[in-house]
Amino acid sequence: MAVVQDGKKCLGFGHPRTFLFAERCAITIVERHPALRNTGQQIDLRGQGIDAMRTLGIEPAVRAIVVNEPGVRILNAAGRLQAYFGSNKTGKGAQAFSAEWEIMRGDLCKVLYDATVGLDGVRYVFGKTVEGIEQQSERGGGSGKRAPVRVTFSDGGVGEYDLVVGCDGVGSRVRRRMFTDGREDKVVPVGMWNAYYTVPPAEGDTDDATWTHYPGRRYIMTRRDRPDCRRVYLGYGGDDAEILRRFKHGTLEEQKQAWRDVFSPDMLDAPQVRRFLDGLDSPEADDFYSVEFAQVKLDNWSEGRVTLLGDAGYCPAPITGMGTSLALAGAYVLAGEIARACGKQAQEERVNPWDNIPAALAAYETTLRPFVQFVQDVPIQRIVGLMLPQSAWAIGLLHWVIWLCAVLRLDKLYARFGSDDRGPWKLPHYPELTPPKQA
Ligand SMILES: Cc1cc2nc3c(=O)[nH]c(=O)nc-3n(C[C@H](O)[C@H](O)[C@H](O)COP(=O)(O)OP(=O)(O)OC[C@H]3O[C@@H](n4cnc5c(N)ncnc54)[C@H](O)[C@@H]3O)c2cc1C
Repeated sequence: MAVVQDGKKCLGFGHPRTFLFAERCAITIVERHPALRNTGQQIDLRGQGIDAMRTLGIEPAVRAIVVNEPGVRILNAAGRLQAYFGSNKTGKGAQAFSAEWEIMRGDLCKVLYDATVGLDGVRYVFGKTVEGIEQQSERGGGSGKRAPVRVTFSDGGVGEYDLVVGCDGVGSRVRRRMFTDGREDKVVPVGMWNAYYTVPPAEGDTDDATWTHYPGRRYIMTRRDRPDCRRVYLGYGGDDAEILRRFKHGTLEEQKQAWRDVFSPDMLDAPQVRRFLDGLDSPEADDFYSVEFAQVKLDNWSEGRVTLLGDAGYCPAPITGMGTSLALAGAYVLAGEIARACGKQAQEERVNPWDNIPAALAAYETTLRPFVQFVQDVPIQRIVGLMLPQSAWAIGLLHWVIWLCAVLRLDKLYARFGSDDRGPWKLPHYPELTPPKQA
């Protein structure tokens, strides 16, 4: 989605109970999908993402949609259990593979949509994209003259906005259009592809997730959030040029066929593989979504009055499990810094609130960047190598190590004594976002 704001004195942003402002602004949320895009499989909220979700005031609604996943079964290609890790639902210590806050992506979209759709000044527009962004040069700082951004939409419409926020995912078009210095797009692939889709249920399916590795840097993971279906994740880290070409440039059908080819013919007789590949043709698999895992690494996320939020600006790659948490924390910090700079600070400086938007964007970046760096700064290639071993021998070794960790309860020990895996960054407190007390 791209969010464009047409300021009227001051900004209103977020959840009605938490983020109320005396004076609101008009916010237009533009989504290219014809309706709320509530597909996608399980996402996790972790660390500061949970704090942000609570601060937004949506904890009861999110708790109501949490998926109960008891744990993950690590299986070998013959379908035999190698190790089992239960989830950590204590709310304390490090999270296991199955986090306390496992949520279906679509359900979280709906919660956020429901919390904002009725708000004064908030307008959702579906089936439309931002095609052009033209920034006017700033006029007379502090003079009260606004310097809006001119946005052209896919239907030919044009609008002027005080702030444009590109939150349109890892392939962000806003990102590609906003920088005027001709820089290269900094999307860094991490060397693996994933496909997500749904298949019909089968006898023997359990609530546990399953994870099976196959030689040649392939895996199949499954999960179940409801009894009437199974969610499938196919993973590939190989370098077959023809497969990669079809992943990148193929139609939806060609991408599905490329995934069939990844596992055929050598794995067709392995337990469940045929079921999951046949499932690509089921009506349930309409939600099929194939993506190259990548990190977005930019020297800065803003230019003038255009900024980036979530995967568009700082995608950490889904294997970190932190994409949604970063996006929520980022939205909160952006709202907080705008409220701060355009509220009291603008009053004290005796400037028009909207003159301070560039200062707010600079503060957003300074405040959030240490967290983004902490999340992105993991040995990603080593993690991908561990997740996708090449040979049967390496898979055997991985399973042995995983089994040892499970037997020695190392995950439980870590969860109990490990302070946690959040790093030093704390979600800031913005009193400016607290609604004024009712008289
Ligand atoms: C369909 C889909 C399925 C996903 N499934 C999973 C999953 O199963 N597991 C997982 O961990 N992560 C998944 N993700 C990624 C995950 O949602 C994000 O990593 C994370 O939630 C950060 O969210 P975001 O809002 O920054 O980006 P996203 O969730 O990617 O949202 C971007 C939104 O912008 C819209 N959009 C894109 N381009 C434009 C444009 N030009 N104009 C207007 N709107 C545009 C998209 O339709 C989408 O609604 C999925 C993303 C999508 C889009």
